[in-house]
Amino acid sequence: AKEHGRDRYHFYTEELNAHALKQLLMEQELRHALQFEEFTLGFQPQVNLTTGKIVSVEALIRWHHPSKGLVMPDSFISVAEETGLINPIGRWVLKNACMQMKMLQDLTGSAIKIAVNLSARQFDDPKLEQSIEEALNETGLEPEWLELEVTESMLMGDIQAVTNKLKRLRQTGVSLAIDDFGSGYSSLSYLKKLPVNALKVDREFVRDIPEDSNDMEITSAIIAVAHKLQLKVVAEGVETAEQKEYLLANQCDFAQGYFFSKPLSFEDLYIYLNEHKFK
Ligand code: C2E
Ligand code: CA
Ligand code: CA
Ligand code: CA
Repeated sequence: AKEHGRDRYHFYTEELNAHALKQLLMEQELRHALQFEEFTLGFQPQVNLTTGKIVSVEALIRWHHPSKGLVMPDSFISVAEETGLINPIGRWVLKNACMQMKMLQDLTGSAIKIAVNLSARQFDDPKLEQSIEEALNETGLEPEWLELEVTESMLMGDIQAVTNKLKRLRQTGVSLAIDDFGSGYSSLSYLKKLPVNALKVDREFVRDIPEDSNDMEITSAIIAVAHKLQLKVVAEGVETAEQKEYLLANQCDFAQGYFFSKPLSFEDLYIYLNEHKFK
């Protein structure tokens, strides 16, 4: 048994080395990507379920790797987070999201928000407020059009410290949404104390509507409680008309998902907005 244990240890060490090496390579590639602007943003519309109008778009990062082609965020955000590169990448996202939204507003006159995802390390960065103000000042976007998405897990820990941080962010004039709601462990009493504007119901709960009656009840319960706390609710990952109808019938405010649109390039978003303006 001892031998076996040692082999296993050996095996894990090699795995770890392979992992560390892969991470090191990706770190270098990410530095290169930042320097040579290999990132772009996709924009996914969020619609008001009652009016059908687009109220907001979520900025989602894409990496156009010189040899691998399109790389999705799930395969590099965690490395960026572990290596600290998420801070400069996050600043790039903030700045570009604000810049493109400002450009879109100037082109179309539409009054829509841009939502930007924050990672844990960005949230913990004491210079975050400064980065936000810089992005707004440099691009001329008014803060009311910027929304920041934070996940439940980032909000765990010292409630006073978290609340203060959220308050400082709100003082810049931006709004805040809790992303992937329901996937973490935040209690409802905790939620009550947080100065946030909206909740995004995790795609996990929406996916199996209408087949999974538990998911349906959880979703409608989240909506009801959120409304009692004066929060707006966004459903994520809406793919079918049935899901949309269920959410509308249960007073969900906004929805986002392939049923409405996939994440779009800036040009396609511009076209989409023009097409939906006259509906
Ligand atoms: P997220 O914030 O929960 O973003 C929603 C993800 O769900 C996006 O994947 C989006 O393309 C996908 N999605 C939207 N509608 C549907 C649908 O109807 N069905 C399905 N199956 N998927 C849908 P994406 O773009 O691959 O992003 C994955 C995650 O990467 C994001 O999850 C977010 O956590 C992270 N991420 C993306 N961009 C950024 C960024 O700029 N900064 C940071 N820190 N994280 C980012
Ligand atoms: Ca998000
Ligand atoms: Ca989400
Ligand atoms: Ca389920």
